[in-house]
Amino acid sequence: MRGNQIKMPELYAGLIEEVLKTNPKANQQLIKKAYDFAKEVHTGQVRRSGEPYIVHPVETAKILAGFRADSATICAALLHDCVEDGCVSLDSVRKNFGTEIVNLVEGVTKITGVQFDSKEEYKAENLRKILLATAKDIRVMLIKLADRLHNMMTLNYFREDKQKRIAKETLEIFAPIAHKLGMWKMKGELEDLTLKHLDPEAYNLLRDKIAAKRQEREARAKSLIDTINNKLKERGIETEIDGRAKYFFSIYQKMKKEGKDFNEIYDLIAIRIVTSTIPECYAALGILHELYKPMPGRFKDYISVPKANGYQSLHTSVMSEFGRIMEVQIRTKDMHHMAEEGIAAHWRYKGEERDKKFDRRMSWLKQLLDWKRDSKTAQEFIESLKIDLFENEIVVFTPKGDPISLPVGSTPIDFAYAVHTNIGSQCSQAEVNNIVVPLDYKLKNGDIVNIITKRNAKPSRNWLNFVKTSKARSKIKSELNISIDTREKEDGKEKEDVSKSIEILSKKAPLKFSKCCNPGYGDPIIAFYTKDGKITVHRKDCRTLGSLPNKRMAAVRWKEKPKGSSKTRIVVQDRVGILAEILNLIALKKVNIHSIYTRAKKERVVITLKMVMPDDLQFRDLAKDIRDIDGVIDVKKAD
Ligand code: MN
Repeated sequence: MRGNQIKMPELYAGLIEEVLKTNPKANQQLIKKAYDFAKEVHTGQVRRSGEPYIVHPVETAKILAGFRADSATICAALLHDCVEDGCVSLDSVRKNFGTEIVNLVEGVTKITGVQFDSKEEYKAENLRKILLATAKDIRVMLIKLADRLHNMMTLNYFREDKQKRIAKETLEIFAPIAHKLGMWKMKGELEDLTLKHLDPEAYNLLRDKIAAKRQEREARAKSLIDTINNKLKERGIETEIDGRAKYFFSIYQKMKKEGKDFNEIYDLIAIRIVTSTIPECYAALGILHELYKPMPGRFKDYISVPKANGYQSLHTSVMSEFGRIMEVQIRTKDMHHMAEEGIAAHWRYKGEERDKKFDRRMSWLKQLLDWKRDSKTAQEFIESLKIDLFENEIVVFTPKGDPISLPVGSTPIDFAYAVHTNIGSQCSQAEVNNIVVPLDYKLKNGDIVNIITKRNAKPSRNWLNFVKTSKARSKIKSELNISIDTREKEDGKEKEDVSKSIEILSKKAPLKFSKCCNPGYGDPIIAFYTKDGKITVHRKDCRTLGSLPNKRMAAVRWKEKPKGSSKTRIVVQDRVGILAEILNLIALKKVNIHSIYTRAKKERVVITLKMVMPDDLQFRDLAKDIRDIDGVIDVKKAD
């Protein structure tokens, strides 16, 4: 739309309509004042698109209204470019709008003032400035993200090299920040727009393919949704179910990462079930698995064990009647808001009590503020970034200041593989904060890790004993081509025997774990050949070993973590809610369920669960508690 075609009263009316949708108590007088102020300041300014400049701050404010922003944030969004572009002083903003709003405007202006450069040495400085501004008030970052989103929407008007630079910066800095703040929708939209500029060919191809298949796909999704909805209603569960739009970028990423073709990924029907309560989530899951066969290994319970950024949901994949896989997310309304809006869902209007989750999530940013005083350089700042930014996750840095996120307990080897496979496999030494450390050193938040590689170096089998990430583990394994994991004893025959028995370890075997010390997975172990040709495995520190002849012993090692999934059959007297109770109990015990299958036999129902069960003891414990549930007749291991 060209500038002269925009009608100003309509522009304002559109904004206020959007604001009132999510915040009926918004301070309209103040918002109008901010709008008029900004319009005045930007008079005569035109964006590259030809639109009057004021369109940009208004659109930014509208995006924030979609996130249920408060009045101060809306005003600050309207004013966010005034100081930067309009030669207005912060003092004048303060006089007119007060401290709260001027602080927000100042924060955004400061971030905007940062000239992002792809050069590595500036990255640490940029990261620092962004985090510092955000730490003062999270709303600064939300305004910045909305500003960036609108700029990305209107990026076509820039020179191509500038488009690419801004898109790259969005992908590297702003989309990850949206991710860290749990703002799924923001992240998805930002990423889709970056794809449009960074790989236009792929983007257009995806867009066309999606458009061509949309109708067919939506019809299929609708019929599945109706079936599920009816069944849930029958059981008295009211839900909202919708077909979920997949973000282009996530399809693109999956195609690239998993080497799959478009149809394989897009044919997946993705739906979301939103319930009122947590027990209803589990009940809906049970019903869904009654209707459709669950795909093994695809069930994830992020309700009992939320993701690092607070995300909660049940995930499962089932085989639909169309012979196609259907991905399902099940969560409560609260969890849904949280997943879509992330930290913005915790937004509280003035005077209301802040919720605890929000404060917890903000605490890491608060700590950053304290360091501002102490750290003079970016490097110092990074070094002082020794906090748990996110639960279960640490962030360490390359010597150039690039942040790398790893799970807690990761080692320099995990780091090396996270940076690049070649760095991992050629790793010969590691330095953390300029000091040489052993390769099994446990990295801490804020560590600066330098990997010294050697050409022709190869991964060591020993690394498998301490690496944490699955990426490192699988790469090492594939490079070593590991199948049988034993160590030889002097005698060739014995070596062969041990390999054979370890091979058989997942199946029927002449190999037994000794009762005296009862070795568990991961314990240091040793094998002993009995006279009748059987092999018993003892813990290395088992006392019995002292009395056994040395030459009958052989070194053995655990081959691979046993897939601890075990089938359990539960027979119950059918009643409303019993499945949910059982699933809730299992979730409380933090046991992961791989699949659930239920079969009704008159009034009795047989529930078959596949769970990851570390040991028998835990099973006995769990079985005992399940038996205590009213209506449970029997609990047994099924294999
Ligand atoms: Mn702007």
